[in-house]
Amino acid sequence: MPSLRGHHLVCLHFFTGEGYDEAFIKNLRNIMARTGHEEITVTSGADDVCASCLHLKEGRCDYTEDADADIREMDNRALDLLNLSETGWAQWDELRDLVRTIFPQWHSLYCSECDWRNACEKNVFFRKCL
Ligand code: SF4
Repeated sequence: MPSLRGHHLVCLHFFTGEGYDEAFIKNLRNIMARTGHEEITVTSGADDVCASCLHLKEGRCDYTEDADADIREMDNRALDLLNLSETGWAQWDELRDLVRTIFPQWHSLYCSECDWRNACEKNVFFRKCL
């Protein structure tokens, strides 16, 4: 079962096939294919997406100097909004419904500053949530 950290439980709903490199995108496509028929394990810290990311260094996110702490905070906020614990399970379809309900708050907290905003704005579900 795919293991996903808090902010990925939200942001992956807006995946449009873009990513850091081919290995990252391939891994993400594989995870997305599994979400349709496998339960999601909620996790904290580096997850199955991070596992193929060039920014994962010694178990920490080095996307920016403060990324690891900032992203953990974002993960915690996502779990709070989704009413999940970091050791729980979730179904992708149920998450999708929840993401729609929390999206106004999520968008105002994070999307305007996010480097992936342009990619997400191409996603139909993202635009429907606005
Ligand atoms: S940028 Fe950081 S949080 Fe995002 S996938 Fe890479 S390691 Fe994980």
